[in-house]
Amino acid sequence: MAEYDSIIRGGRLIGIDGSEEADFAIADGKIVAIDPDLGGTAGEEVDARGLYIFPGAIDAHAHFNEPGRTRWEGFATGTRALAAGGMTSFMEMPLNAHPPTCDTQSFNLKLAAARASSLVDYAFYGGIVPGNVDGLEELAGCGVAGFKAFMSTTGTPDFQAADDLTLYEGMQKAANLGLPVLVHAENRTITDELTRRAVSTLRTSVRDYLDSRPVVAELEAINRAILFAGETGCSLHIVHVSTGRGVALVAAARARGVDVTCETCPHYLLLTEDDMEALGTVAKCAPPLRPRRELESLWEQIFEGNVGFVASDHSPCPPEMKAGEDFFRAWGGISGCQSLLNVMLDEGYHKRGLPLEEIAALMSRNVADRFGFLEKGRLEVGADADIALVDLDASFGLRTRDLLYRHRLSPFVGRTFRGRVVRTMVRGMTVFQEGRIVSAPIGRLLTPQKKIAKGKL
Ligand SMILES: [Zn+2]
Repeated sequence: MAEYDSIIRGGRLIGIDGSEEADFAIADGKIVAIDPDLGGTAGEEVDARGLYIFPGAIDAHAHFNEPGRTRWEGFATGTRALAAGGMTSFMEMPLNAHPPTCDTQSFNLKLAAARASSLVDYAFYGGIVPGNVDGLEELAGCGVAGFKAFMSTTGTPDFQAADDLTLYEGMQKAANLGLPVLVHAENRTITDELTRRAVSTLRTSVRDYLDSRPVVAELEAINRAILFAGETGCSLHIVHVSTGRGVALVAAARARGVDVTCETCPHYLLLTEDDMEALGTVAKCAPPLRPRRELESLWEQIFEGNVGFVASDHSPCPPEMKAGEDFFRAWGGISGCQSLLNVMLDEGYHKRGLPLEEIAALMSRNVADRFGFLEKGRLEVGADADIALVDLDASFGLRTRDLLYRHRLSPFVGRTFRGRVVRTMVRGMTVFQEGRIVSAPIGRLLTPQKKIAKGKL
C-alpha cells in the first residue's frame, strides 16, 4: 500500500516569498509533505522537472449563467475552460442566472446545477437588489461568500440595480453578517442618460459607447461605495476596476482604515479602447476598455500592491447577442476565464517582470484570504492540493478551437501567450492534462470558514 496518493517531483513551487525546487506529496486531496528530496511511495508519481507549480487559481468573478441561461454558458463548459486555464475554483455571480441568486430557493437551484457538472470547486455570491435586504441573512445561512450589488443598470432585467438606500442598508446587514459586499461601480444617472442620448440620436458606434461610460462614472461610484462602507463598517470589494485612478481611490480609503479591496480583469490589462474598435462587439464590456495610459496605470497599481486580485469577469453570451454593429444593443461582457492566468504570465511576468509569487497572490492567496477559504490558494502542508503545472517558456497562439466555452468567442483569440498550463489538479485529482479534460465533474461548494479578516490586503 503506497504511503501517498501522488508525489509531484522536481517542480519549482511558488510560495509567498519566491519559488523553490521541491517535491511534494498528496494524500486525501491535501498537500501532506513538502521536501527538496522527498522519500516514500505513491500511487502516482508526476515528473514536474522544468515546470513551475502554481497554487490553483481562484477566479473570483465569473458568470456561468446556470440555471436559466445555460444556453449562454453553463457550469460544464465554463469549468472546463477554467481547468484548461489552470484554475481550480471560481466564484459565481448572482446575476445572469435565472432566477438570480437572491434567496434560498435560487441558491439551491444553482447548487444542484453546479454539483451535477462543475469540474472545479465553486463558491456563490448572493445578490443585493431592491426589496431583498431582509433576505440576506438566509443567503448567509446558505453559505454565500459575499453579496453583489450593481450601482449601474444591469444587462438583465431580472436583476435590478441597487438604489443608494438599498446599497446602504445592504451594507449594514452584510456588516452584521460578517460578509463582504461587492459592487459594480459606475454611476447610474450618468451612464443611463448618456446612453439614452446616444441611442435616441442613433449614435451607436464603438466610440459612442465609450463616450457613454466615462471614467468619472466609475470614480464617483467607487467614492460613494467607500463612503457607505466606512459609515456602516462593511467590508467592501470593488469588482472590475478599469482605471488606475479607481484603484488609487481604494488604496487611499484603505490607508485611512476603510476595509475595501478591489480587483481588475485581464481585458483591462491587455486591451485598450483601440482594440475594442478593431475587434468589435466581442470586446464590449462595462466599464469599457480604456486608453493605453489607463492600462499602464493599472499595471503601476498592481506593482504598488494596491490591487487585491485579478479576476476574469467571464460574461459570455450566444453569438447572436454579439452580432451587428450597434454597440449599445450588443451584450456587454467578455469571455476570458480560460486566458486569465495566460494574460498574467505573458503581460505580467514575461513583459513587465511582475514576480511569479505576486501573480500567485493576485490569483489565489489573496482571494482565499479575503473570503475565508482557509484551505485554498496556497502551496502549504495542510492546504487542498489545488495546483497548476506550468511550462513558463512555452508559447502558444490562442485559436478559436482551443476555447472550451460553450460559444467560442473571445477577444483573446489570435494572441500569442508565453506560459502554458500543462496540467491542473483539483484536490489532488488531475482534471486537465496536455490539452484534454480528463476527469468527471468533481467540484464542491466552498463556504467561508471564518468571518472576513479586516484590512488584510
Ligand atoms: Zn461581472
